[in-house]
Amino acid sequence: MADDRAVVVGGGLAGISAALRLADAGREVVLLERRTRLGGAAFSFARDGLSVDNGQHVFLRCCAAYRWLLQRLDAESMTHLQPRLDIPVLRPDGRQARLSRVPGVPAPAHLGAALARYRLLSATDRARIIRGALAFRMLDPSDRMLDEQTLEQFLLAHGQTPATIDALWSIVATATLNLAPREASLALAAKVFRTGLLDHAAAGDVGYAVVPLGDIHSTAAQRALEASGVEVRLRHTVEKIEPGAVVHASAGHTAYRADTDTVVLALPHRDAFATLPALRTGRAAPAAGLGHSPIVNVHVVYDRQVTDLPFAAAVNSDVQWFFDRTDSSGLHRTAPRAQYLAVTVSAADGVLAETSGALGARFADELARLLPRAGRAEVLDVFVTRERRATFRQAAGSWAMRPDAAAGPDGIWLAGAWTDTGWPDTMESAVRSGIAAAEAALHLPTSQRVRFAA
Ligand SMILES: Cc1cc2nc3c(=O)[nH]c(=O)nc-3n(C[C@H](O)[C@H](O)[C@H](O)COP(=O)(O)OP(=O)(O)OC[C@H]3O[C@@H](n4cnc5c(N)ncnc54)[C@H](O)[C@@H]3O)c2cc1C
Repeated sequence: MADDRAVVVGGGLAGISAALRLADAGREVVLLERRTRLGGAAFSFARDGLSVDNGQHVFLRCCAAYRWLLQRLDAESMTHLQPRLDIPVLRPDGRQARLSRVPGVPAPAHLGAALARYRLLSATDRARIIRGALAFRMLDPSDRMLDEQTLEQFLLAHGQTPATIDALWSIVATATLNLAPREASLALAAKVFRTGLLDHAAAGDVGYAVVPLGDIHSTAAQRALEASGVEVRLRHTVEKIEPGAVVHASAGHTAYRADTDTVVLALPHRDAFATLPALRTGRAAPAAGLGHSPIVNVHVVYDRQVTDLPFAAAVNSDVQWFFDRTDSSGLHRTAPRAQYLAVTVSAADGVLAETSGALGARFADELARLLPRAGRAEVLDVFVTRERRATFRQAAGSWAMRPDAAAGPDGIWLAGAWTDTGWPDTMESAVRSGIAAAEAALHLPTSQRVRFAA
């Protein structure tokens, strides 16, 4: 017999958000997570006294749902959101520029003002970029036809060159879509560029955690869930969900079973199909083809300060972005003069096969080419984290494979950053998907749904 509990399966940001939303609506909620912590793909781990993030996680001011979650977790103060977009961009030849928002200039003129100061491109190339940006502003990200094209096809058709793609479009697109422009979906790129950069001047201001990710997505999340009455069961692996919403899990040698009328399945797509094989024959079936794209991070600890920048992007370098994690990792407590930089390589298929030793040496050299002081410093430690299935493969054609929350069997609602939120596979998408699944399960009319900016 079904009881009136709702069961949320998966303790990533989608599951956390779904559980909070269901609890806020008065439902009794159990959340099952197989790991020993919450936070899913956005987590930290301990290594030699450091708190290391598995990968740098960035959000933008336009990420209204993720920012709602931060507020709900009472964790806004654990992040920094730039008052104004300001991205330092470095080249190995020593040239530097900043992509920065000029205060008081509204969209779309803000882009022209920012580009006027972006000296890594010639005046002709800057004009080309304005042309490309204006073409983007004509696109409607909700137009499904856009998903039939790649970002590169669109850029080349609108006057862009390999130089402008590398020095500007790719910096943003590869990081946000975790795929190179030659493969990435134009529909998702339109979402990123319109919502994140072109429609509102302040939308692209960059935010990031100033504490280990686990402090927010695990510790603060568990505290908020429990304060809302959610029963959080860690180390509970869901083995099988039977149609009719019967959940079978195991916790070590102990079996756990929940008969319920509401399940929110907030797992990565591969795990969702494994626990609920019925998905293979329903409307969600195409999602089995979504595939994955990897992200690799190379973490380098120096004996001294090698840069004053909190983060930077790079062009003409294998380093795509680096972030200073000295304070957030706790390094400053044990080695006050040392500095820890984490290099992010998105769309990392090409480096996955390299050994950690080779990657560490190569990226330490690359950093030394970008940051002269790094060349004179001693590398105290270098290590690599690899997330082979960091995101789904956000290629042209992927949109039609993303199911909505209601595409599962009766009583089972789908969530996860890979579901059809209209956003790339990001923390924002995860939170939106969790809220959408909870609100679908609650059969809430539109007027009672949490409203985020589009
Ligand atoms: C290295 C890296 C860098 C990233 N950078 C960014 C970034 O800069 N900005 C950004 O917005 N996004 C970034 N992302 C993407 C972002 O982390 C994800 O989109 C988001 O966290 C996905 O959340 P989710 O809840 O949908 O899924 P997940 O986080 O994958 O959560 C699913 C949960 O389900 C659990 N689970 C799986 N199977 C079972 C089972 N059988 N029983 C019980 N529990 C189970 C898992 O343990 C996991 O906790 C990055 C991802 C990675 C890996």
